[in-house]
Amino acid sequence: MTVEVWWSTLAAADHELTALLDDTERARLDSFDRPADRGRSLVGAALLRLAVAAHLGVGAAEVVLDRTCAECGRPHGAPRVLGAGDRRPGVSVAHSGVLVVVALDPHGPVGVDVQRASDLPDPGAVGDWVRREAAVKARTWTDLGGASPAALVTSDLRPPVGGYAAALTTVGERTVRHVDRTEGLRSARGR
Ligand SMILES: [Zn+2]
Repeated sequence: MTVEVWWSTLAAADHELTALLDDTERARLDSFDRPADRGRSLVGAALLRLAVAAHLGVGAAEVVLDRTCAECGRPHGAPRVLGAGDRRPGVSVAHSGVLVVVALDPHGPVGVDVQRASDLPDPGAVGDWVRREAAVKARTWTDLGGASPAALVTSDLRPPVGGYAAALTTVGERTVRHVDRTEGLRSARGR
């Protein structure tokens, strides 16, 4: 079984991508003061939509996502794909520095994390950091597809930019297929 890992960067942030987003995502963009935060949020939301759209064979703007926070009910929680029935994939999004990553597992819960080493107090611990974060994100899924948390497998990913570490947690072993969109997302506008 294969997990897709999609990569992009802050350089892909283009105002035209907002056309792919829903009202909730656009409102969230407007809540950021810093351009870099805004850019990471924009690229993360657009990359997630492009990955799910490619998987489902629909347009990126047609993808229906739920980001309800389990703690407070506001729409800043981990995204879930809605409305695709049995084909609904598990997804996870992370960003750090200039990198944005989306993981899509057709068969269930998944967690991904990426971190720029120089942003940590101890850059040498970045590998442990991302492995822990990816596992935490996978465990936030209330339905592990019938699997026990003991079935979670965490593996290292190779980011397309130096100075970063990334990790992926899945339910059982998976083959990883990397999709490199670091050159930009505009060409994939629409579907
Ligand atoms: Zn919350």
